[in-house]
Amino acid sequence: MSQPKTATHCPYCAMQCGMNLTQHEGNWVVEARDFPTNRGGMCRKGWTSVALLESPQRLTSPLLRREKDAPLQSVSWDEALDFIVGKVEQIQDKWGRDAVGVFGGGGLTNEKAYLLGKFARVVLKTANIDYNGRFCMASAAAAGNKAFGIDRGLPFPMQDIAQADAVLLIGSNIAETMPPIMQWFEKLRENGGKLIVVDPRATPTAQNADYHLQITPGTDLVLANGLLHIAIEEGLLDEAFIATRTTDFECARRAVASYWPARVERITGVDEANLRDVTRLLARANSMFLTARGAEQHANGTETVLGFINLALGLGKAGKFYNGYGCLTGQGNGQGGREHGQKADQLPGYRKIENETHRREVAAHWGISPDELPRAGKSAYELLDSMGEADGLRALFVMGSNVAVSSPSAGKIRRKLAALELLVVSDLFLSETAELADVVLPATQWAEEQGTMTNLEGRVLLRNQAKTPPEGVWSDAQFLNALAKRWGQGERIPSEPRVIFDELRRVTKGALADYSGITYERITQNKGVFWPCRAGYDDTPRLFHDRFAHPDGRARFHDVQFFGLPEEPDTEYPFFFTTGRVMSQYQSGTQTRRIPELNAMSGPPFVELHPDLALEMGISEGDMVRVTSRRGSATGCAKISDGIRADTLFMPFHWGGHHSANLLTIPALDPTSKMPEFKVCAAKIEKATEVERDS
Ligand code: SF4
Repeated sequence: MSQPKTATHCPYCAMQCGMNLTQHEGNWVVEARDFPTNRGGMCRKGWTSVALLESPQRLTSPLLRREKDAPLQSVSWDEALDFIVGKVEQIQDKWGRDAVGVFGGGGLTNEKAYLLGKFARVVLKTANIDYNGRFCMASAAAAGNKAFGIDRGLPFPMQDIAQADAVLLIGSNIAETMPPIMQWFEKLRENGGKLIVVDPRATPTAQNADYHLQITPGTDLVLANGLLHIAIEEGLLDEAFIATRTTDFECARRAVASYWPARVERITGVDEANLRDVTRLLARANSMFLTARGAEQHANGTETVLGFINLALGLGKAGKFYNGYGCLTGQGNGQGGREHGQKADQLPGYRKIENETHRREVAAHWGISPDELPRAGKSAYELLDSMGEADGLRALFVMGSNVAVSSPSAGKIRRKLAALELLVVSDLFLSETAELADVVLPATQWAEEQGTMTNLEGRVLLRNQAKTPPEGVWSDAQFLNALAKRWGQGERIPSEPRVIFDELRRVTKGALADYSGITYERITQNKGVFWPCRAGYDDTPRLFHDRFAHPDGRARFHDVQFFGLPEEPDTEYPFFFTTGRVMSQYQSGTQTRRIPELNAMSGPPFVELHPDLALEMGISEGDMVRVTSRRGSATGCAKISDGIRADTLFMPFHWGGHHSANLLTIPALDPTSKMPEFKVCAAKIEKATEVERDS
């Protein structure tokens, strides 16, 4: 017999597809909901998400490692929590409060992200909290704040995509990473619109585009400046828009003056005729510019995004209906996760931790003095890299993140994690990071708790609880509350999602990301509510129709220049190495690698290379190969494809152990967003040894 359906959302990406969960004859069944974004569509990850609801691999008891070389052993919650409290006190007494850090995740609900930020600053009193969104959307967020005065991934509803005449999609393989979004692009094509994809690889998204600009990895900013140069040269600018809605155009004009088409062709590999065609196409009415990780995960990611925003503003394509600039956020709650205080430099509601007014406002809500509120801490990679260093971390709490796989230079980070005096990891499964921990806490998964998520459009959604968690499993809010109680601060850290959300609403009132008018009931009635939404007011599906969010209402142009890559191929490491995703795995794979159907789809970890390069190296399809950079090596099966440039190697980053692409990546950080360079470094490729083949 079927049980009642629970309306919820997929546990994975920022599409947050609407789904119903129910049980039929004891088995969990998922069906796609007719939600405004996915409209009945889901990808295999969503369809198979219920496979983990009764997984025998779930952690159901806290695990404790009493000595560094001892194994993890099952203990009671009391024992685990007492151990944590004792260690934290010891470490903070010896090394200071900031020696304890907190690392959150873009998959946590808004409630948990908010609570984690408060717990870090009010209970642990540490400045050092950041989250894995710093590895994901941070550059687009920084660029949005600079150019528009606010960061909301898409400042318009997803359905506007279908109404655009042309979309420039930079660095995204959405046909594989979020397939249901393709329905809006298909509608665009049916309406006569054109899709232009910028990507070093001929991905399924690029193969279906009207134009594929197969650029040299890492040269996206040169392309952006080159297109604006052509727009100026050919008189394609929207002068009225520039005059009335923007400032500082002259600095952008000067910045792109030297990006003449022949130079841009030489650096990017895109020929001049294509550059000109695309610029003219985009200059037509209603064009849209969407960036994703390919453009953003660079050491110059903020400037790269600003380059494309300059182009969108110059052509007058921002802030109007059915066109504009947006970022396609990746992680499930990448958007909400960066609004409510998980970031080192932020307080809830997108307030700034170094702004004295913001500090006073939040401190008043939290019942502390502004002086007690820590200042900005270290960004995600800096935080991890500080482990064990003189002024760095001695203890780390990790919630909903698998940094041993997702961090750049992962080999070094794994060694540092293992050497910490205290590593506490809260997760559903024994992830690669949890394997290194001193204390592992078994956490609830998405269908076992209620909470809100903010999708890539800034639409706040409600996940409802469909099942009770297994015995022994606690929600992160419960364990934070239990720890806070041990320090006499339990009343400050509530454990009920609705109570936390009501506090979040009060605290964000009047802030940039104002959630004060959003309630669970309103979300349910309206199929989501777009922030900002003040109590008693409508929500805000489109942000920039009348004005941008800077005090003068105008968007800003920026002077952005390309100064080369942090690491160029050379004789020792002759190829570009780039990382990305496949359709059937999600992020560091903690969940999806435990689903046989998804593993069968993705196949084993692989390295993609061009047939000419394979021939030169004597590599055949399926051979085990080793790719090596100055930071480490990873192995995978050779996948030979003429869709990749002959000078480039590609490896998805979903796998752990010696199959981790991030063993190679370079921790060169964007100076503004502190986003690491995940998309380009120099590498070499060889056939793996027999030992490596067998391991
Ligand atoms: S992974 Fe993303 S695109 Fe796929 S079903 Fe889930 S939310 Fe939708």
